[in-house]
Amino acid sequence: MKAFFFKRAPAMCLCFCLFLCLNGCGGSVKKYGAAFLGTFDTTVQIIGYEKSKADFDEAASGAQGMIEELHRLFDIYHDYDGISNLKTVNDMAGTAPVRVDDRILELVEFAVDMYSKTDGTVNIALGPVLRIWHDYRSEGVSLPPRELLEEAYGLCDILDVVIDREAGTLFLRKSGMSLDVGACAKGFASGLVAESLPDGYLISAGGNVVVSGAPGDGRETWKIGVQDPRDDEENPIVTLGVYGGAVVTSGDYQRTYTVDGVSYNHIIDPSTLMPAARYRSVSVIGPDSALCDVLSTALFILPADRGGELAEAYGCDVVWILPDMSVEMTEGAREIAT
Ligand code: AMP
Ligand code: MG
Repeated sequence: MKAFFFKRAPAMCLCFCLFLCLNGCGGSVKKYGAAFLGTFDTTVQIIGYEKSKADFDEAASGAQGMIEELHRLFDIYHDYDGISNLKTVNDMAGTAPVRVDDRILELVEFAVDMYSKTDGTVNIALGPVLRIWHDYRSEGVSLPPRELLEEAYGLCDILDVVIDREAGTLFLRKSGMSLDVGACAKGFASGLVAESLPDGYLISAGGNVVVSGAPGDGRETWKIGVQDPRDDEENPIVTLGVYGGAVVTSGDYQRTYTVDGVSYNHIIDPSTLMPAARYRSVSVIGPDSALCDVLSTALFILPADRGGELAEAYGCDVVWILPDMSVEMTEGAREIAT
């Protein structure tokens, strides 16, 4: 894992949070950037070094097409003509298995496998509970009643998610069940897109950053900023030097609402059915984007000692930002932080 990260930071620093500072570069290649909206509920940004803008545009538009396609497949809110997506699977809960694209099967298989590996903290069958929180957050007035959450939780058993690889189908055994892949779909999709890009590109999708090799201007690393949870996008709280793999952040500032002066975020601890409140944010650094995404959500819920153990088991490093804004890091994260 350490092969992905460098301790030494180049003097010139490209800081990256929800913003990008586009600098010029030497040599025969130039730096290009593109951004688009409309997928995974966030802005997707792509940066690459190419000899010509036409080369970059070709790579970036291929990446955009791919992420749009993955967005349609993993969407739980909208139908699209001619495809069976996760909304179709949810709509058919308790009724019949749905034949789906292999990439849906792969994502769901991966996420179901990670359920026990994350001590049950990341449960993609938590859809009914997450939908209630989503609706109450959209209203922004009150908290969901406990009984409503508990009743919904009765339909969240991961063992009732049936994956039939041979038939290529997905089935939710009970009517009213639903999948929510918010904890892992962006990381999974960004990882696939990064694999399809030439070496030395960076893709960022709302807290998920993946790079396909060191930047093409001769610098050793990309500098990836961990956003200050207090909304200061200009000044990252920590900057990490990476030349491969992913940095994925789960933060309490990403989707939140306030009731009686208390802020409630979007990451729900299945053991309490309430938003997790241990940290302001958790960033996971590692070779695999989908894994970092699942782990960032899990570690946001878990105590730091258990989270650290889990990250180590998967060859990942972690930056935790605590409610008092103090920063804890694993040793590997400290080595690449500035
Ligand atoms: P992330 O920003 O990657 O941590 O993912 C947060 C999103 O994952 C939320 O907006 C929900 O859609 C979903 N989510 C929240 N809590 C959980 C949970 N305990 N297990 C699975 N998915 C969750
Ligand atoms: Mg996640």
